[in-house]
Amino acid sequence: MRSIGDVEVANKKIIIRVDLNLPMIDGKIIDYTRFDKTIPTIKYLLKNKAKVIIISHLGRPKGGYEEKLSLKFLVNEFKNSIIDKNIEFANSIKDAREKIKKNDLLILENLRFNPQEEKNCLNFAKKLASIGEIYVNEAFSCSHRSHSSIDAITKFLPSFGGFLLLDEIRNLSSLFNNNKSLTAIVGGSKISTKLDLLTSLINKANNIIIGGAMANNFLKANSINIGKSLYEKNMLDKAQSIMCEAKEKNCNIILPIDAKIAKELGENFSEVDINNITSEYSIFDIGNKTVNLFSKVVMNSNIVIWNGPMGVFEYPPFDQGTNMLAKKIAELTNLGNLTSVAGGGDIVAALNKANLNSSFSYISTAGGAFLEWLEGKELPGIKALH
Ligand code: ADP
Ligand code: MG
Repeated sequence: MRSIGDVEVANKKIIIRVDLNLPMIDGKIIDYTRFDKTIPTIKYLLKNKAKVIIISHLGRPKGGYEEKLSLKFLVNEFKNSIIDKNIEFANSIKDAREKIKKNDLLILENLRFNPQEEKNCLNFAKKLASIGEIYVNEAFSCSHRSHSSIDAITKFLPSFGGFLLLDEIRNLSSLFNNNKSLTAIVGGSKISTKLDLLTSLINKANNIIIGGAMANNFLKANSINIGKSLYEKNMLDKAQSIMCEAKEKNCNIILPIDAKIAKELGENFSEVDINNITSEYSIFDIGNKTVNLFSKVVMNSNIVIWNGPMGVFEYPPFDQGTNMLAKKIAELTNLGNLTSVAGGGDIVAALNKANLNSSFSYISTAGGAFLEWLEGKELPGIKALH
């Protein structure tokens, strides 16, 4: 894939697709991670005398302009982050085409105010492309979507991968392209949303550690009484067949051996052996013995990939299982004994909350795209750059 670093950008109008779909509450940005990550590439382009048009979506507009989803507020955010540069706002493609003649830096209004964006519409992509001369995809986290600004636009302009996007792909590719011992940790709530993930991992990983509510399906399929714990009734056969397939492929599936249980969240909890759960109780986290068991597996691995928390981490003490396992992984990573990767919305939130994110080798903020990559799917936005 061609990198934007390999092409002459001076005096060129560059359209850069970034992910500024920032987490917000009441109109305020609550996490700047994605925003901050876009700055170095934009600075690089400006320093090399390019003209830059920033494009992104925000939220899910219902098919037209919505004031609270306008990207206009980002003008000030960029002014504070990009030194010595005037940034202009363009409220339409036509407006952008005019303004980029006189300005070096523009941000275009929310792409999704135009319903054609999500339809991967060639006509819309062509109009979008007419603003610039080169296209850069710097939004790995949006690259699992076949949308005009990700996919169709590459048909009309010379297209390149941004530094961030290439970095993410390099990091993820290196996980599978070696003979090292690989352990996947899969948790979270719903097995039905992660069937493709588990099936794909069976073929790539030496071990799959299963925790969270995800594990309940497997425990129940093994005839263990899980009381009132969350599980999916119509998934028990699936869980069974995943375990059989894993056995055939020499992939170890490791399940919890004890649990933190309570009648309800917020009520008294206790820690019991997995065979001693009674019918009024629910599993809300893995227990200490399980943390030790999972840690041992991790200690004997070279690479760990983690998606989905081990318990209801939003309600302490049911964050302990996730936190203790994360601490162990952080320790091994800091010692240089382990490559550790985590990705997905909730596990990243859990690691942030426990202040352990910087001790992992790599954290992917690209929820859906990260998962589809792990599932072995080809991402339309990445394919389009080839
Ligand atoms: P990710 O976003 O990392 O992919 P998921 O969205 O699949 O993770 O799952 C996260 C959710 O799973 C969290 O809200 C967490 O509370 C829930 N969860 C984890 N373990 C349990 C459990 N034992 N019972 C009920 N919910 C659980
Ligand atoms: Mg989630």
